[in-house]
Amino acid sequence: MQRERVAEDIYVFTSERYAQVTAGAVITNEGAVLIDTLLFPDETRMIKHFIETRLGRPVRYVINTHYHADHTYGTYLFPDAAIVAHTGCFDLLDTRGREGLEKTKQNFTEMNGVQIVLPTLVFRNGIMNLTVGDKTLQLWHSPGHSPDSIVCHVREDHVLFAADTVMAIPYFIDGDFDDFVRSLKALQNHPFNFENIVQGHGEVVLRGEIEQKLQNDLAYLYTLRKLVEAAVVANDAERALSKITLEKCGKTRTPLNGSVQDLHQANLRALYRQLYEQSVAQA
Ligand SMILES: [Zn+2]
Repeated sequence: MQRERVAEDIYVFTSERYAQVTAGAVITNEGAVLIDTLLFPDETRMIKHFIETRLGRPVRYVINTHYHADHTYGTYLFPDAAIVAHTGCFDLLDTRGREGLEKTKQNFTEMNGVQIVLPTLVFRNGIMNLTVGDKTLQLWHSPGHSPDSIVCHVREDHVLFAADTVMAIPYFIDGDFDDFVRSLKALQNHPFNFENIVQGHGEVVLRGEIEQKLQNDLAYLYTLRKLVEAAVVANDAERALSKITLEKCGKTRTPLNGSVQDLHQANLRALYRQLYEQSVAQA
């Protein structure tokens, strides 16, 4: 696990074991807020040790940005914290989250101790303000990657924890394409002047890169949609799909150790299926 300090009181932890997934900590004079956990318990334990033992601040809140395992499997290591999430996250953890964990335990013995912990503080619409000591965190729904995704803005430091709303490429197979476009546009038009955006996977996006990053992500979605629409009406759909490369959609193949190529292929298939079914229904 790598640790980086992005502001006086804000740390970002990046997994070295799984897909460069990130977690964050906001340290206040009345304890710490953890934004997500990492997939493997040993890495989340390192975060806990750093915050609680080295910095001497108890973790009072854990925010689950969405129900996916790589962001939530460490929640159980903070039994005294309040767990904050969108109402959709509560429901999805209770259903798909539990099912997924049973399967994971069959394959990874180190996951044997992991338990699903349901959020204790949930919200649905608008902005939820979470004030802890001298910091206020502003949370809002940001669906697209998953139905329950939220983002978290630290008001005093202008740091946005965007979770999987911002990653190497928008990845929507468990969410919704149109929601994703809306959520990215909302960030683009946001009145807050973000100092940094912490991505759900990969490196922190710095102030000077933010505008271009959001534009590039939206361009990816628009181009992908246009090319997949063409594939739906093409004579040889397979051939048309095989030509829709990451590069054609304005992205490169290298981020996340090359695994963006798999994410892109999954996006392509999911969007094709959706648009194909729509075209059949309309015919
Ligand atoms: Zn996710």
